[in-house]
Amino acid sequence: TQFGYQEVPMEEKQGRVDDVFHSVARRYDIMNDLMSGGLHRLWKNAMVSWLAPPHSGRPYRVLDMAGGTGDIAFRISDRSRGHAEITVADINGSMLEVCRERAEKHGYTNLSYAEANAEELPFEDKSFDAYTIAFGIRNVPRLDKALSEAYRVLKPGGRFLCLEFTPVSTPVIAQLYEAYSFRVIPMIGQVVTGDRESYQYLVESIRVFPNKERFASMISDAGFERVSYRDYTTGVVALHSGWKL
Ligand code: SAM
Repeated sequence: TQFGYQEVPMEEKQGRVDDVFHSVARRYDIMNDLMSGGLHRLWKNAMVSWLAPPHSGRPYRVLDMAGGTGDIAFRISDRSRGHAEITVADINGSMLEVCRERAEKHGYTNLSYAEANAEELPFEDKSFDAYTIAFGIRNVPRLDKALSEAYRVLKPGGRFLCLEFTPVSTPVIAQLYEAYSFRVIPMIGQVVTGDRESYQYLVESIRVFPNKERFASMISDAGFERVSYRDYTTGVVALHSGWKL
């Protein structure tokens, strides 16, 4: 790219991603606020609003994949008034550790944890009513595997929701966004975490992610139906939805 980034081969990608999140786990939450100017909170709220988890009735089980430090799980819990039973799964023990501490501090008792790879889930078929993944799927090397695992572990009638940065197609916005993401974000990363490279890598992983239409068809290919998506913040972020029917 014009910024001199070299693409990481598929076999090395997961190791690289794991290093990034081990290194930033303790500063992850503050970094999100700094990098997005707080916008990530609105995007996450929008995701949980679209999910609209029930707050009564039969048990409602959610798998929050790549759940990191728990932002989505806590929102789902709040929104369901504590009714949802949420499994926070992440490949990275350091991120889950921060999640556990936050959950304890804020008194969440309806959460369980699993150190797991999205490509190979340690759960039985048809275990969950919903599968959520926020800013996680672009880190997974084999998207198709992650999507078919999501499909497998959902119950019939289950919901798939994925929040993710997407490549921007509007030219002016794309230029602004590129300047921001390739110059400002690694700089904030350097100042706050001392780790410029990790953030440069994260930014690059957005650029190579499939566009919204392409990603929607990958979700359909995994077996999901009624696939649709919503755009946020001029298409910087998209929220994809699908149903296992
Ligand atoms: N969902 C949280 C949020 O929105 O704040 C965390 C998102 S964070 C940007 C991405 C997370 O994906 C990290 O916690 C990372 O460890 C996790 N991750 C990366 N590759 C993964 C994989 N193959 N399987 C499961 N989790 C993975």
